[in-house]
Amino acid sequence: MKFGGSSLASTSRVKNGARIVHSFSSGNKLVVVASAMGEVTDQLFEIGELAQKGEARMTRRLLSSLQRFHRAVAVSVGGRKSGRDLATTIDQLNLELEKTVEGILHLRELTSRTRDYLLSFGERLATPIFASAMRAEGVRARALTGGEAGITTDGNYGEARPLVEVSYHQLRRRLDSLLAKKETPAVTGFIATSVDGNVTTLGRGGSDYTASLIGAALDADEIWIWTDVNGLMTADPRIVKDARILSTVSFGEALELSYFGAKMMHPRALQPASQRRIPVRIRNSQKPNGEGTLISAKESDNRGRVVKAVSIIRDVGIVTVGGAGMIGAPGVAAKVFQTLGSNNVNVIMISQGSSEATISCVLARKDVDRAVRALQLALLGQGQVERIVHEKDACIVAVVGSGMKGTPGVAARVFSAVARRKVNVRMVAQGSSEYNISLVVSEESGPEAVRSIHDEFRLAEKLA
Ligand code: ADP
Ligand code: ASP
Ligand code: MG
Repeated sequence: MKFGGSSLASTSRVKNGARIVHSFSSGNKLVVVASAMGEVTDQLFEIGELAQKGEARMTRRLLSSLQRFHRAVAVSVGGRKSGRDLATTIDQLNLELEKTVEGILHLRELTSRTRDYLLSFGERLATPIFASAMRAEGVRARALTGGEAGITTDGNYGEARPLVEVSYHQLRRRLDSLLAKKETPAVTGFIATSVDGNVTTLGRGGSDYTASLIGAALDADEIWIWTDVNGLMTADPRIVKDARILSTVSFGEALELSYFGAKMMHPRALQPASQRRIPVRIRNSQKPNGEGTLISAKESDNRGRVVKAVSIIRDVGIVTVGGAGMIGAPGVAAKVFQTLGSNNVNVIMISQGSSEATISCVLARKDVDRAVRALQLALLGQGQVERIVHEKDACIVAVVGSGMKGTPGVAARVFSAVARRKVNVRMVAQGSSEYNISLVVSEESGPEAVRSIHDEFRLAEKLA
């Protein structure tokens, strides 16, 4: 069971989570995965940025409010018996956090390795608090970090990749022995340890991934993700008011949705579960009796409905490489992608004009400047590429559904729906799985594009 930040955002939510664990604990072996509380990861990120800029006052103000927040929750969650131990643990972590932040302030330097260490405090503070709340409910919870539980990664800080077989082996050895003693491991989501022993993170939203890895390692019956919505929905309910919950979704569809849903789930989270065919259930921690969404290996029956959901990925930009000299010149595309790859820039979407005079790539907005510089250095002045331009205000709208496969006319409906609302489409791509059509539009018109497609395919209506 993984509890997201929204399900642990306050004392009462932490206690609510602990009651949920307790209510399912008899007769089941459970492993719990905890995210950082609420928006704590964002706040730690900001503290790092401020400290690097040398903004000492702001940095310390934010830091001390974070420290006080965790301490206050710890005091009210811990109860009388275990309260003192918990407070000591939290004080120690707070002190270690403070040293880290002072170090960044002093050096005005924030490497990706230090940033991972800084961000790790979110989960490392939340997990002992949550474990203590579970003990207060009578669950024999034991807090562990991802590394202690056995998750080992490469050293790609910020987006570390687990060494899967080693991690599975260690997870089984360590967690099975706790479970055999009737203990309930409570593992920090999101963070792990590199081969050389440093703290790493699995990328934003990575607690889902932790849960999936652990579920796969232990061959769990199910993996449950507790969050703040009733399940996976036809669109982000913050954008589409009448979005509807999806009761069953196939792994293929969920993969497309999570990859393009940005925040809803970590893009790689479903991989381990889907490889081992372990069903994933998404449920609302505020309404624990709801059925939620079941993601499984079963092809879902969409009863003739072609489109299942629409999602949006924000904060992206487009980089376009162009030049008449590119026409008919082999190898330009290879050079573009090689350059981006070796600069650690992840390409989310690609399109090439049929005239071959342009190649456009969609990237995370934070990577755009770096990508443009690298491409300028590698490609300009060689007679093929004449210009490299970029746009930073873009978002991707992804239309997903396994029923789209082999159904003609879906793309036409998508584009006319969007055009009717006067949204200009800058780029288009269709995934090879045919489960997905993606369009790039301006940041501003993204929500309207999502709503127009949601309406066109009548996603708010229940299936008969
Ligand atoms: P957690 O803190 O539990 O990890 P997240 O904030 O990461 O939660 O993800 C849950 C949020 O994802 C929801 O509050 C919702 O606004 C957003 N979301 C985006 N797309 C969808 C979708 N298709 N279905 C449900 N929620 C979605
Ligand atoms: N706390 C981390 C984040 O905010 C991981 C997670 O919530 O899944 O990205
Ligand atoms: Mg999340």
